[in-house]
Amino acid sequence: MEHRGRIVESTGSWYEVSYRQDGEPKKINCRLPGRFRLKEHKLTNPIAVGDFVHFNINDDGSGSIQEIEERQNYLIRESTHHQEGNQILVANIDCAYVVQSIKKPAIKRGFLDRFLVTCEAYQIPARIVLNKIDLATGTDQPKIEDFAELYDSLGYKVLSTSIKNEKSLNRLKEDLRKKTSVFVGPSGVGKTSLLNHIEPSINRKVGAVSDYNEKGTHTTTFARLLPLHSGGYLVDTPGLREFGLVNIEPWELSLFFPEMLEFRQQCKFNNCTHSHEPGCGVMQAFEEGHIHPDRYDSYLNILDSLENA
Ligand code: GDP
Ligand code: ZN
Repeated sequence: MEHRGRIVESTGSWYEVSYRQDGEPKKINCRLPGRFRLKEHKLTNPIAVGDFVHFNINDDGSGSIQEIEERQNYLIRESTHHQEGNQILVANIDCAYVVQSIKKPAIKRGFLDRFLVTCEAYQIPARIVLNKIDLATGTDQPKIEDFAELYDSLGYKVLSTSIKNEKSLNRLKEDLRKKTSVFVGPSGVGKTSLLNHIEPSINRKVGAVSDYNEKGTHTTTFARLLPLHSGGYLVDTPGLREFGLVNIEPWELSLFFPEMLEFRQQCKFNNCTHSHEPGCGVMQAFEEGHIHPDRYDSYLNILDSLENA
């Protein structure tokens, strides 16, 4: 009989699959038959944590994966070696939460906008968690409001949080319910602290160096899905700072800036990069105040890194 489950952990040769039998949650270690070991789209792993699979149970109690369901989306980890392919880090993500803190450290717009582009490119819905709001003084308030207003208007919901504010944590918990979510963000913004408050059983060491640094080489570490009590999963991965902007051509970048979409159609040139070209609809929209200067600035920075990659 065939069962349906989800890969929650992997060692590279074994896959831990979580599934339900007669309503009971179960786990099984599965193998992937050799026929799946194809190098498609330059990816080194044919299957990844987060994948939904169909499997058979063998006589010895292990499982054998028969089918991998089509992915809704996935994040890849770029290989550091050019001859190697890219690796799928995690598949089927419902929401990526980009965590930033208002102070200590201050909001890093470069990180944020770059990651939002990655999410757009991989078709992963994104939200922003603005943490440490307890550190805000009266003069910070208008800046925070402007920030939230800008990103909300672009379609990225902004949730303000503080580990000292129960209500804000409950709002975040509610947002995570029944979804597969991933938290990303620079170190020190409070990702570990938030996770510990959301799911105390995780109990990570706050202020510790990332898994990535502790374990050294990232090739040996894989992502995991951590089940949440409220239903849903959190992606636990050591590779979160390495998400690259693979496969984006400079002229494509504006496709991943939602506020540029309507204006890029008015550009004189099809391959306009909206940086110096005559007859550019995006630059005109920027001059007329329809595109936020900070976002256009981020756009130019990312464009520059793509052109000089
Ligand atoms: P991570 O590197 O993103 O995982 O950040 P950590 O969770 O390790 O937190 C870094 C530091 O920020 C720690 O000293 C936390 O106690 C502190 N911190 C985390 N969240 C908050 C918050 O909401 N308010 C304040 N004031 N400090 C926080
Ligand atoms: Zn243009």
